[in-house]
Amino acid sequence: MNSQSPTYAAVLLDVPIAAAFDYRIPADQEGRLAAGDWVVVPWARQQRVGIVVELRGRPAIDAARVREIIGPMPGAPRLDTAWLSLGAFAAGYYHCQPGELLIPAIPKRLRRPPPGGEPKRRTRPRDDFGDARRRFESLQKGLRATAEPGPPVTDDQRAALAALASGRGYHCSLLNGITGSGKTEVYLNWLSDVLSADPHVQVLLLVPEIALTPHLAGRVQARLNQPCAILHSAMRETDRAAHWLAAAEGRARVVIGTRLAVLAPMPRLAAIVVDEEHDTSFKQQEHPHYSARDLAIARAHAADIPIVLGSATPSLESWHAAGRGRYSLLRMTHRATGAALPEIRIVPLRESGAAPGQPRGTPEGFTDEAFAAMQETLAEGAQTLVFLNRRGFAPVLSCGHCGWLSQCDDCSAYRVLHRRARGNARNRFMLICHHCASTSAVPERCPNCGDPDLIALGRGTQRIEELLAQALPQVRIARLDRDVARRVGATESVFERLHGGEIDIIVGTQMLAKGHDVRRLALVVVLDADGALFSSDFRGPERLFAMLTQVAGRAGRHDGRGRVFVQTRFASHPVFGALLAHDYPSFANRLLDERREASLPPFTHHAILRAQSAELGEALGFLTEARRGAQTLLETPTPASNPAGTPILYYPVPMPLARIAGVSRAQLLVESPSRPALHAFLRAWRARLDTDAGRVRWQLEVDPIEI
Ligand code: ADP
Ligand code: ZN
Ligand code: ZN
Repeated sequence: MNSQSPTYAAVLLDVPIAAAFDYRIPADQEGRLAAGDWVVVPWARQQRVGIVVELRGRPAIDAARVREIIGPMPGAPRLDTAWLSLGAFAAGYYHCQPGELLIPAIPKRLRRPPPGGEPKRRTRPRDDFGDARRRFESLQKGLRATAEPGPPVTDDQRAALAALASGRGYHCSLLNGITGSGKTEVYLNWLSDVLSADPHVQVLLLVPEIALTPHLAGRVQARLNQPCAILHSAMRETDRAAHWLAAAEGRARVVIGTRLAVLAPMPRLAAIVVDEEHDTSFKQQEHPHYSARDLAIARAHAADIPIVLGSATPSLESWHAAGRGRYSLLRMTHRATGAALPEIRIVPLRESGAAPGQPRGTPEGFTDEAFAAMQETLAEGAQTLVFLNRRGFAPVLSCGHCGWLSQCDDCSAYRVLHRRARGNARNRFMLICHHCASTSAVPERCPNCGDPDLIALGRGTQRIEELLAQALPQVRIARLDRDVARRVGATESVFERLHGGEIDIIVGTQMLAKGHDVRRLALVVVLDADGALFSSDFRGPERLFAMLTQVAGRAGRHDGRGRVFVQTRFASHPVFGALLAHDYPSFANRLLDERREASLPPFTHHAILRAQSAELGEALGFLTEARRGAQTLLETPTPASNPAGTPILYYPVPMPLARIAGVSRAQLLVESPSRPALHAFLRAWRARLDTDAGRVRWQLEVDPIEI
């Protein structure tokens, strides 16, 4: 045996307490194990599967306490070290452990410790890795002799592709193309060129949600005609294992996936696309709070490869980076099909107090203008999308006598009135809290005063569907929201009927806003755009503009001119002016000016410390204490301290939704004009937080997108 070889391995595990854990290498593995290898290790009285990050001559802890690796994971491939570096980078940036990011991204099926104790003593091996490889093989049978050709590119697309072709090495391009400009064709042509230039390389396409764009994967596969792995959280475990392993072993040349796909090992990664880069689903809303878009950029940078971010309404962060020349800006301003952009009308909404008795047959919630447009559209045999970002029947139930409201017992929110999927006349409805999922029966009388006169206030998608069905009995109406989507196959079926022209009016939430290209959809009615207008979050207008642009972009993509009616009580709000003009750049530039004035991101950088406890006072108390500790830290000068970048600590406040499922939540915002200063501070601060949390649970989020 080589006496030089290290006898310890630092192993990555999904445990928050340390970056890696030291284990002794068994004699029969010395000189064989390397970084990227999978090992089975003892953890308390269990076994866990981890990844070796580093070999060491001596352990970081007392050698007597170091336990021995049980054995290598049978059948597992050595993972590439760039993947380990990605984990290390992300952990440093998001102030978590690399194992908390990387290990959960490995499919569960591939990180089951082998049965029967020690792997080397097993008799009949379970072969998870072999199964996964065979499964991917069989899924790739659909590949054809040649790739399906695409349409001839438009001038806009040609110009974008020419700009992309000229780049070598790391380069970030922001593709800002209006809805329908054919961004997907640009991605496909570019990726296809990258794949044909070198028969070994892999490419990664990140998308916000695969379930909502079921055609995308098929289209990409047909056009690129290469083994293609798909990764998202709603897959069956066996499929996920098959696809992930193909990505990790370089057998999948194309990986299409949602946020978690950015954490897939891809040893020969050569190009990345992030579609709809502004979409908030790229940010994980739980610990560890990473941004897949930002990690994709970091990954491209580390691998020295090009990346394209695409959107009709880029995030202000990306728009700003493009403005400063950090990204190159590629714009596409014409629709690829030659269709014109939809004509947008802002329709003032007057809330009529009395619901019943609509004189001209216009259903509640619709203006006469919008309803007349729907009838014209129906007469032309075209389709209408009615957009309302509120599922259920009515957002709250109230007592007409005493003002009682259907408050959730455990949340600072109302329980929402829902029509039951199967209910009889007596119990057609129930109350559901959208935050903790608790349900209750609809009371027959007011629980407070006993009055029988309970009123459903406001309207959700179920009620709109019902009102339309009453007003337009001959018309084929369908609904799509998360309640419908819960039924297996329901989303696919709705989209199939919609694309097949079997639906005249589709009512739905933002599930309908994204990426769909429905040929005969001519009219979009946005019932109530106001929810997001006066949001407490400074990103409210940016979000609303992006959402309205997306949903408006569904209208008239092919034949004739699309029309969009946006109903609002605040028709003179500047966000609507920009929408009418289809002018994202001036809107974004104006918002950036406001952000600069107010020292908000992207001109400063944020982190949020959130605390949860049974009592709000406890959570706030913890944050107050944490703030005091932070002030002490900031007062202690260090060689690295930079007065210009000194973080500002805001006061702790209850979160906008202060209580969920009986847990109170509070937050403290930290802001700094300097990223390095912010991170240096967070590193020091985080170390102190661990020690005095008591009963409070806390989380640190870097670059929060919701405040
Ligand atoms: P975006 O993602 O920019 O909104 P898509 O990529 O969905 O746009 O393209 C919009 C529509 O235009 C699709 O129906 C697509 O098939 C079509 N399309 C894209 N490029 C071309 C082209 N070069 N010639 C003809 N049709 C095109
Ligand atoms: Zn009452
Ligand atoms: Zn609740």
